[in-house]
Order: sequence, then C-alpha cells, then structure tokens
Amino acid sequence: MQHIDTIIVGAGPAGSSCAWRLKRAGRDVVMLDKAQFPRLKLCAGWITPKVMHDLEFTPADYPHAILKLNIHSHIKGLPIAWHGSPIKGDTFSIRRIEFDDWLRRRAGVDTVPHTVKTIRRDGDLYIIDDAFTCRYLVGAGGTACPVRRALFPDNRRKFRQVVTLEHEFAYPAREDICHLYFMHYGAKAYAWYFPKGDGYVNIGLGGKANYYRKCGATIHDHFRRFLADLVAEGKLDAETAGSFKAGGHPYYLYSGHGKVREGNCFLIGDAAGLATVDLGEGIGPAIESALMTAAEIAGTGTYAKEKVTQFSSGGLARRLAERFIAPKPVG
Ligand SMILES: Cc1cc2nc3c(=O)[nH]c(=O)nc-3n(C[C@H](O)[C@H](O)[C@H](O)COP(=O)(O)OP(=O)(O)OC[C@H]3O[C@@H](n4cnc5c(N)ncnc54)[C@H](O)[C@@H]3O)c2cc1C
Repeated sequence: MQHIDTIIVGAGPAGSSCAWRLKRAGRDVVMLDKAQFPRLKLCAGWITPKVMHDLEFTPADYPHAILKLNIHSHIKGLPIAWHGSPIKGDTFSIRRIEFDDWLRRRAGVDTVPHTVKTIRRDGDLYIIDDAFTCRYLVGAGGTACPVRRALFPDNRRKFRQVVTLEHEFAYPAREDICHLYFMHYGAKAYAWYFPKGDGYVNIGLGGKANYYRKCGATIHDHFRRFLADLVAEGKLDAETAGSFKAGGHPYYLYSGHGKVREGNCFLIGDAAGLATVDLGEGIGPAIESALMTAAEIAGTGTYAKEKVTQFSSGGLARRLAERFIAPKPVG
C-alpha cells in the first residue's frame, strides 16, 4: 500500500484548489480521479471576481478563452430594465474542459487515475481500496463523492437538490450578451444562454427537484420550450436546436444539514453540497471550502461550513434571497 499524508478524492475545482494550497504549504499530497483529464464537466462556466481573487489570477493570466459577460437578466420572460448582473463586479465565462485541467496542472500535484470504491478507517489512517493510506482525507468527488457515501452516511441528500439539463457546443457567437432567465416556466426554474470565448455557447436550464416532482411538467418539457423561445428570438437556429443532445447532472445548494468534517476527513465543493442558495453558483464555494480545508490541514486556519459564502448576489437581489430562501440553521 502506498502512504501519502493527504489524499484528495476528485481533481475538479475543489480538489485542485485544495491541492494547490497544500503543495504551496509544502505538504505531501496527491489527487485521485476516475476521469482522464481534460474531462468534460456539465457546467455553464460562470466565474465571479471572488473566484479569480481566491485563486490569485486575472483574465490576462488565463491561457484559454475567457469572455467578460454583458449580462441581461429576465424575470418571468420579461427583460429587467436595468439589464444587469445580480453580482457585483465583472463576471466571466470559461469552458470547464479547459479551466479544470488548467487548475489541476497549476496545482503541481500528481493526479493518480483511480476510481475510488471503498474507504475505511483504521485508527488514525484512512484506507482506500486497500491500495492507498493517508492521515488526512479530502472528499472532493462532486455530487456522488465516494468519501461522503462511505464516511458521512447521515448526510441526507434530499435537501435543496437542483436538477439541470444543458449543452455546450461550437456556435459562432452572435453576441457577447449572456442571458439569465429567472422564474422561467415556473417559480423555481431558471435558464441561461452563455456565450464563451472562441465561438462556443452553453445553453441550459435548472430547477429544484422538488418543484419538478410537483409541477406536472418535466425538465425536458421546459428545455424544449426554452429552445423554441431561443429560436423565435433569433439566438439559435432551428437546425441546431433540433440536433440538441442535452445532458443532466444534479447538485445541491447549501443547507444547514450535513457535516463537512469527521476526524481528519473533510468534504468540500459539491461533495458537501455548497452551491449558493440564490444563483446555484458552485465553483466559488468549492474553491472557498477547498482553501479553508487546506489551511486547516496545514495548521494555519479552520474550515467550517457556515463560513462558506451562501449567496452570490448583492444589493436588493441579495436582500430578497436572504429574506425568502435563506437556509435554516442546523437544528
Ligand atoms: C448544468 C450545470 C451548470 C452549472 N453552472 C455553474 C456556473 O455557471 N457557475 C458555477 O459557479 N457553478 C455552476 N454549476 C455548479 C458547478 O459545476 C459545481 O458546483 C462544481 O463543479 C463543483 O466542483 P467540485 O470540484 O466540487 O466537483 P466536480 O467538478 O464535480 O469534480 C469532482 C471530480 O471527482 C471525480 N470523481 C467522482 N467520483 C470519483 C471516484 N469514485 N473516484 C475518483 N474520482 C471521482 C470526478 O471525475 C470529478 O473530476 C453548475 C452545475 C451544473 C450541473
């Protein structure tokens, strides 16, 4: 068996950010990931100024296409007069297939190709598939993280689940305007049209799983209607819309339920269910939780779920979100 001081399961933004910071602190660390990088991750790829600040880079440092977004928001199909972003500061779109691989390489930490199946604890050690042992274990394996399933059996997963459908494809961008549609086809659904640099576009739709269980329509019904609207508005041609093969992926918004730490084992990013409750932003909380965990392992800080940002928006949008959708404290 191979012993490493810290093993991180998952080399997405959460895992790579944790590895990056631990490596900088001189720690012995590896990442295990079942995917071959660069790998596709379903995601609109919207990143905020805080993400760039936390990861210490500017758009000029980024080696792939990055597009500053001109955001137009719509509520219930109607454009908002001020045509703005609910987030303060400049926001950008990246392609996850490029961004995640760049973060992983930048960390300068080995990624071992390995699908984690079994994890058990033996005294102070965690044992993974009888192949690896470690003193610190970080679960960064996304929504279905094997660390969460093995060591956090009480983390109940029925809270604040978001289901999504999306597709990213090469399409000569007609404009650099990013459209966000809130309360689209129902109070608890939202949709997006995200142009990327280099002529890619990401189109998607998401909503609370509970909403779709009750509302009588499926997310596929809503997605078809959304595509038809985009064609009618001239944002997409009918032939492309007809050839769509959208993929789905669930994830969880922040809730007061569920631990993120047990002994020297930590859950970060989607494995902990930390996406913001107002806009479903998951990259920022994944990075925040990763950096806090690295600081805790390095002995320079602490990680607590409550310290992770729960809202993306600012101003009035934030006040409304805090008033109506704030997560309840742990009971
Ligand atoms: C459709 C959609 C759109 C989104 N849009 C946005 C957006 O625009 N902006 C935003 O901020 N957030 C968005 N999110 C959320 C965001 O994608 C996630 O919150 C983010 O990817 C979380 O990063 P992570 O590192 O925790 O997990 P992931 O990125 O999921 O990485 C997990 C890694 O773990 C690996 N892994 C899993 N199981 C195993 C195993 N058994 N063994 C080894 N490795 C394993 C996987 O291969 C993967 O590489 C969106 C999500 C969806 C579904």
